[in-house]
Amino acid sequence: MQITFLGTGTSQGIPIIACPCIVCHSKDLKDKRLRSSVLVEENGKTIVIDTGPDFRQQMLREDIKVLDAVVFTHEHKDHTAGFDDIRAFNFINKRKMEVYASARVQEAIRREYPYIFSDFKYPGIPEINLHLLENKLTSIEGVDFLPIEVMHHKLPVFGFRIGGFTYITDANYISDEEKKKIKIQKYWF
Ligand SMILES: [Zn+2]
Ligand SMILES: [Zn+2]
Repeated sequence: MQITFLGTGTSQGIPIIACPCIVCHSKDLKDKRLRSSVLVEENGKTIVIDTGPDFRQQMLREDIKVLDAVVFTHEHKDHTAGFDDIRAFNFINKRKMEVYASARVQEAIRREYPYIFSDFKYPGIPEINLHLLENKLTSIEGVDFLPIEVMHHKLPVFGFRIGGFTYITDANYISDEEKKKIKIQKYWF
């Protein structure tokens, strides 16, 4: 399995627009951080966790030619605002994008991207197959994703365990029950 951190920045990225602070003016490359997202490559499949506002730039930077699925952690804009750009893969890969999201995130996607779901589709819009993501082991294009439900204040957010790798974003509370999924060495064998 190959993991690529596409972005590890704050919700605004680093540097922040117009920010006068030292970090935002730093020349250190580690202080240039795009919005949070991770690319998972396993068994010939390429899956992205979240499509934030930097999604286009991240796909170009990593020279991704095929994307098999999108998995969402939660609906905040810094994790979903680049979603429209998945249509590039529709055109090139000549198929619909497989999209995995909780019921709540699906509601937000329908609200924010109504044209994707309209009966009279404008040509060139994203084509997707939407799959319900629940808090249970889910095969995403043949790759096992174990959701870990964490809390971001009052908002539930999905982290994921994929094999020996755990990815959690936007969390300030993890219940003991969910923590077990991270600690147990081989959770589902
Ligand atoms: Zn700053
Ligand atoms: Zn968030």
